[in-house]
Amino acid sequence: MSGEQSTMFDYDKLLERLYSKVPKRVSKYERFEVPPVQVIHIGSQTIIKNFRDIVDVLRRDPRLVMRFLLRELATAGSYDEDSGMLAVNIRVSSTVLNKMIQMFTKQYVICPTCGRPDTKLEKLKSRAWILVCEACGAETPVKPF
Ligand SMILES: [Zn+2]
Repeated sequence: MSGEQSTMFDYDKLLERLYSKVPKRVSKYERFEVPPVQVIHIGSQTIIKNFRDIVDVLRRDPRLVMRFLLRELATAGSYDEDSGMLAVNIRVSSTVLNKMIQMFTKQYVICPTCGRPDTKLEKLKSRAWILVCEACGAETPVKPF
């Protein structure tokens, strides 16, 4: 049993190292504050209690943000619409989850031209994704996932 725990611990450390290069602040605008994750661990699951609050601030579809996180964590999970919580099928620390959400914010929310978060994500029929900025009008192609 202790062996299993140390494996999970190593995986967590690896993820922390992987995401330690992500800058702490992705936006220079004070009004844009993404809430830190509130996490509980139940068995081998991780529950993000305030997932809906986070995606509301990001103004993104919860299912899109979920897909991003699950892909990064290489695991499965489920979003509960009633409670607004996201369950992830592995144990992962809040540090790692916060870094991943910062990474999502940097890539899929913040306009690279003006640095503002007032953007929307448009999916074209060609399957290309474009980040459209409502502040400066810039249209930036982003990597679909
Ligand atoms: Zn912009």
